[in-house]
Amino acid sequence: MARSKRLLLISHCLLNVNSKVEGIEPYEGVFKPLILPLIEANFGLIQLPCPELRHSGMRRWGQVKNQYNTPFFRNHCKELLKPFVLELLEYQRCGYDVCGFIGVDGSPTCGLNRTCKGNWGGEIDESFCLQNHLNSLHDTNESGVMVEVLQELLDEHGISLPFWAINEKSPHKDVAKILKELS
Ligand code: SF4
Repeated sequence: MARSKRLLLISHCLLNVNSKVEGIEPYEGVFKPLILPLIEANFGLIQLPCPELRHSGMRRWGQVKNQYNTPFFRNHCKELLKPFVLELLEYQRCGYDVCGFIGVDGSPTCGLNRTCKGNWGGEIDESFCLQNHLNSLHDTNESGVMVEVLQELLDEHGISLPFWAINEKSPHKDVAKILKELS
């Protein structure tokens, strides 16, 4: 049986929901509406590391892009991604088809079309007004930090890839679009 030689880069939690901030649980294990059709279509899936988990662990709070968009976190993402970019170069050098990257819309880190910003953070004490902070949270049409860094690294290495992202709350339109464009 011949291998497909077709690969996709996937945000970590689409293959392992357990990496998400505790309390965000849109599925039980793997994001089946996307992953099962990709398995059926014989793609090899390269699971990127979860930058938030590797930075702040499992007991992290849900944060926004403003908080992660620091030189330190960007460098953290860069260091995590570098070996994967070299892996892509090697696959391409040997005639494999690296077909694209799939992220998670809404994430401050893995969002593509949409991420979350706001005045979030600080010390939670008697002067902290949760409602004021909650009121400042908003979606914005930008990519998350890791996706920006991934794009920069790919550009540096002359790799051009399509990027897609999934809205986990209503994935069907995104999944159909991705599968159509991959077919
Ligand atoms: S940082 Fe990315 S991989 Fe990690 S939980 Fe968030 S969306 Fe998933």
